[in-house]
Amino acid sequence: MKYLGYTRIKKASHKDWLLNSTSSKKGNVDELKDIEGKLIDVYKHYDGIVKKHSKKIGKSQFKKSSGVLKDFYNKPPASLKKELLKRRNEHGLSECPFCGNPVSPNTLDHFIPKNDWPEFSIFPNNLVPQCRDCAPIKGDDYFDDTEKLAIFHSPMYHKALSEVTFSIAIDFDQTTKSISVTPKFWLTDDINSCAVSVKRLTLHFRGLQVKKRIITYSNRMLRHWKSLLRENDFDISDALQTRINERTSDDQDKNWETALYKGILKNQDLVNYLESLTPTGKTHVQKPKAQIHELEL
Ligand SMILES: [Zn+2]
Repeated sequence: MKYLGYTRIKKASHKDWLLNSTSSKKGNVDELKDIEGKLIDVYKHYDGIVKKHSKKIGKSQFKKSSGVLKDFYNKPPASLKKELLKRRNEHGLSECPFCGNPVSPNTLDHFIPKNDWPEFSIFPNNLVPQCRDCAPIKGDDYFDDTEKLAIFHSPMYHKALSEVTFSIAIDFDQTTKSISVTPKFWLTDDINSCAVSVKRLTLHFRGLQVKKRIITYSNRMLRHWKSLLRENDFDISDALQTRINERTSDDQDKNWETALYKGILKNQDLVNYLESLTPTGKTHVQKPKAQIHELEL
């Protein structure tokens, strides 16, 4: 997971996005122009609303304009569409900033749900790249009435998400060959010292069902590697280590893939079993480095 507060994603101008909308020739543009001033006013409160995580958001004053506001998001004029596509696809992220799913996020979340607060339908900081698995789970949820806390962290505003790392412990039963995975979540000392932060992070990960999804993902990837190994003779340890090394050391434990591969490599019985699946069934020994010779021209 990644904090997006320092990235160019966060630096988009809400004035530009609104101007892209009000200067368009869209049929209902006058309806938007009528509320432009009120929108600019409410935009000023966005940072405060998102940061005040223990306060429920007041009812929207823009319910009557819900149709036009959501329409500008769903069917944006060309110049706004360009910005929205850029936000959705050109972020350079290789995992979901909300959950750590190791895919390039290709949908946008309205962090403050647009169905209840349509005023933030086209407000740039409210539109956060998200993976398609998170999207239907998060839905229109925002506040937990029992805990009296906002459920989710916004990757645009809350650094805490980038302070969480994953590990995946793997048990392998040599008799039944069954593999069970246990995801674990780790917090830095800074976060550990703050009870509210721990509670909030628990709500976030439970709210997005991250533990269950990591188990599903891990089992799918294990099936994938087993099937590859049955067809091809290769060194699984090398292959997994190569994938781990493709990420910088700072990013390595912030996504599920690296956590899984590190978990597999820690369990030598499992590695031996995986290698026994290859067509030759041989356990690979580390090959000596090939000698290289200069080609003299
Ligand atoms: Zn996600």
